[in-house]
Amino acid sequence: MATNRTFTMIKPDAVGNGYTGKIIDDILAAGFTIKAMKYIHLTKAQAEGFYAVHSERSFFGELVDFMCSGPIVAAILEKENAVEDFRKLIGATNPANAEEGTIRKKYAKSIEANAVHGSDSDENAEIEGNYYFSAIERF
Ligand code: GDP
Repeated sequence: MATNRTFTMIKPDAVGNGYTGKIIDDILAAGFTIKAMKYIHLTKAQAEGFYAVHSERSFFGELVDFMCSGPIVAAILEKENAVEDFRKLIGATNPANAEEGTIRKKYAKSIEANAVHGSDSDENAEIEGNYYFSAIERF
């Protein structure tokens, strides 16, 4: 069932490069509403927990180290068709392949330091939002 919600993180590269405000502006301009938001510097254990589904992938250790390299901004966003529309807004995983105007095309540097996360399904949007926000925070 579509929840009309997705989960995002503005990753350490984008926060460190001062793009947080610009990325939030792009998200709001695309019609998303912010339902919850927090600024947090992940511990290794917290990043490993979030990316547990990727634990068998060759780049898991690098990805975890990267996600702990500086603060991030995590948020739950709402819009009709949120998951699919947000994936379109952020563009391909590798910014070199991302379409013009997408967030990753504008603000990302590499396949790892790719500026933002966006959930890939309604189910994962719920799991990921629940990982970061308590029930009262995501009401
Ligand atoms: P996404 O759904 O577009 O975020 O992409 P994936 O689920 O495939 O990968 C999760 C995250 O792992 C990506 O957003 C990147 O930050 C990172 N990542 C993906 N592929 C690679 C890779 O080949 N090398 C490294 N170092 N990181 C990667």
